[in-house]
Amino acid sequence: MFLDKITTVSDEFDNDLAGVKALKNLEELRIKYLSRNGIVSGLFEKLKDVPKEEKPAIGNKLNALRSYVSDNFNKVKIKLEEEGIGANKKIDLTLPGSQRQLGSKHILTQTVDEIKYIFKGMGFSTFEGPELESDYYNFEALNFAPDHPARDMQDTYFVAKDYLLRTHTSPVQVRVMKNYKPPIRAIMPGRVYRSEAVSARSYCMFHQVEGLVIDTDITFAELKGTLVFFAKQFYGSQLKYRFRASFFPFTEPSAEMDITCYICGGKGCKICKHTGWLEILGCGMVDPNVLINCGIDPEKYRGYAFGMGIERTAMLKYNVQDIRIFFENDFRFLKQF
Ligand SMILES: [Zn+2]
Repeated sequence: MFLDKITTVSDEFDNDLAGVKALKNLEELRIKYLSRNGIVSGLFEKLKDVPKEEKPAIGNKLNALRSYVSDNFNKVKIKLEEEGIGANKKIDLTLPGSQRQLGSKHILTQTVDEIKYIFKGMGFSTFEGPELESDYYNFEALNFAPDHPARDMQDTYFVAKDYLLRTHTSPVQVRVMKNYKPPIRAIMPGRVYRSEAVSARSYCMFHQVEGLVIDTDITFAELKGTLVFFAKQFYGSQLKYRFRASFFPFTEPSAEMDITCYICGGKGCKICKHTGWLEILGCGMVDPNVLINCGIDPEKYRGYAFGMGIERTAMLKYNVQDIRIFFENDFRFLKQF
C-alpha cells in the first residue's frame, strides 16, 4: 500500500517536471514536492505508522525517492538557468559596431615623408647615417676649424673622446661623397642632438633634412631654382621668398632662405618678429675644402647643399607654437594630423 503510494508520487513528479518550461514553474514544483510541507516530507511523516518490520524497506524506498526528486529537480534547474544566460547573451544586430581607433604617422614623420616626396620628384635619393659619429665626420671633414665654437661642450654631446651624438645630418653628406661618385643628388633626413636648454623654441634632440647635389656644371641659380620649387610645393605657390647672405663652415657662398610670414602675410607680427619674413632653411655652394676632404676634385665638380629643421618646418606649416609638444605624445595633439 505504502510502496504503491511512493511509485505514484514518483510518476506524478516525472509528469510535473516534464511540464516545467520556466524557472518560475520549477519553484512551484519545489514547494509542492521538496518543501517542509511538501509531498515527500509528508510521506516521511507517515513512516511512523508503518509496521516495525516493514520500516527498513520502506525507509530505503523513501530515501531513494527523495534523491530521485531532488537530483532531477537540480538537473532541470541548471538547464533552465543556462538557457536564461544564453538568452541574455544574444547579439543585438541593430546596435552600431564598436569603433576601433586607427593609428597614424607622427606629424614629424608625415613632414619628412612630404619633403622626401617633393625632392624625389626632382631626382633626389634618400640616404641615412649613424647618429653616433666621430669628430671627423661631424666637424673636421666639414671644414670646422679646431677651435670652432660648435665643438664646444656647451653645444655638443660628447660620448667619448672624438665620439659624439651628431649635431647635424651633414656627416651623412660626407659619407655619401666618400662612397658614391658624382653625379650625386641626395637628401638625408635624421635625428640630431644639441646640448641646448629646452624651451618652447629649442629642444635637445630634433630632426633635420639636408640635401646635396654634386655635378660638373652646378650653379647657385640651380640651387635657388630647386629650393624655390620645393618651398612653393610645400608651403604654397603664392609665397614670396628671398635669399640672404649667411655663413656656414661647409658652404661658400652661403645663404638663408626666407618666405613671407603666413600669419601676417608680410605685414609683421609676433611670429615673424615684425619682419614679415620667416627663415625656412640654410644653403650654399659646397666649400671646395669639403670636396677635397671627401675625395672629389673641386676643379672638375661643384655642388650645393641645404638643410632645414623638421620641427621648425612643421611648426611653420601647421602653426605649432611649442616644439616640446612633438615629443610629449599627447593624444589630443597627435590625432589632429
Ligand atoms: Zn608675421
